[in-house]
Amino acid sequence: MELAALNRKPAAENELNWVTATFMALFHVGAVVALFFFTWKALFVSMFLWWVSGSLGIGMGYHRLLTHRGYRTPKWVEYCLTVCATLALEQVVGAHGVDFDREVHAS
Ligand SMILES: [Zn+2]
Repeated sequence: MELAALNRKPAAENELNWVTATFMALFHVGAVVALFFFTWKALFVSMFLWWVSGSLGIGMGYHRLLTHRGYRTPKWVEYCLTVCATLALEQVVGAHGVDFDREVHAS
C-alpha cells in the first residue's frame, strides 16, 4: 500500500510547500499562545519532545538509519524513529538526501 503523498512530485526550488508552510505557521502561533499557559512541567515536557524529535528522530532516524543505513534495527524501531522525526517538521529523507549529505560530510 502506498500513500498518495509519496507519488507526489517534490516542490521545485522556488515553490512554496503549502502543507509544510501551514503547519509551520500553526506551530508558531501555538508557540506564542503557549507563553500564556506557561508551567515548568510543560517546559520540561517540551524540552524532552525536542530531544526526541531532534536526536532520536532526525539524528538516529532520518540521518543515520534512513539516509546512511548505518545500522540495522527491527522494523518497529525504524517506524518509531521515523514517527519521532516527523515531530521536527523536517522534510522526508529524500530532501536530506545522500547527495546533500555527501557534500556536508566532505567538507
Ligand atoms: Zn550524514
